[in-house]
Amino acid sequence: MRLPADYHMHTPLCHHAKGEPWELAEQALAKGLSEIGFSEHNPMMRDDWDDWHMQHEDLDLYFEKVRKAQNDFPSLQIKLALEVDYIPGHEDWVRELASKENFDYFIGSVHYISDEFDIDNPNKKDRWETRPVDDIWETYFDRLTLAASSGLYDIIGHADLCKKFNHRPEKNPSPWYRQFLTAARDHDVAIEINTAGLRKDCLEMYPCPELLQMARQMGVALTFGSDAHAPGEVGSDFPAALALAKGAGYTHWRQFSGRQHQAVRL
Ligand SMILES: [Zn+2]
Ligand SMILES: [Zn+2]
Repeated sequence: MRLPADYHMHTPLCHHAKGEPWELAEQALAKGLSEIGFSEHNPMMRDDWDDWHMQHEDLDLYFEKVRKAQNDFPSLQIKLALEVDYIPGHEDWVRELASKENFDYFIGSVHYISDEFDIDNPNKKDRWETRPVDDIWETYFDRLTLAASSGLYDIIGHADLCKKFNHRPEKNPSPWYRQFLTAARDHDVAIEINTAGLRKDCLEMYPCPELLQMARQMGVALTFGSDAHAPGEVGSDFPAALALAKGAGYTHWRQFSGRQHQAVRL
């Protein structure tokens, strides 16, 4: 089975992942992948923003480690990317980051629905009890829609991350999905099948089959990511992800190089 690229993986520079780029690359080859991409959590505008993003001073080291892996594993295509938080007001900073290297793609992710609340943070789980789930979901998808419309990103990460701890809305979420996907289609931004959801309380990949199917019907392009935070997670559940994509009607995935893209048959 030919597997699509794993475009979502982290390194120890974010302080909550294990495995150097070379270890992840080695694992990718063992799993039969021919292409991967590193998408470390971006340095935020301020280094004291939180404790789970890369620090400014480590950016060059990150580039160096990925370039070294590219040289050491010539049989594997290795892309250089970042997973970049979308926070309203940080747009200029994201553009500045983009100018720092010849990146292959940016994954735009919403983790924060306010400057204080990163909804997937296990240490802030009790905050979910202080606000209606519907309200958190709606705010999340409003931000995701802004992220897709911002022109800052090539791929939107884990599109329904708000289900991570298995908080489910009372309202029908379809209108939120549609609003987000309309923005993704209009701005030609891809979404990813992110298999990490299977390893979380929700026990389901991101996004859910309904959102994925809607994306396919609306013509939104697709990438794949394990969101690996350890070597053993590289390419995790990719055969199942591939089956899910095909089941939704996808025939191609989107390959990135230098922030340009092309369609590759699944
Ligand atoms: Zn992470
Ligand atoms: Zn993320």
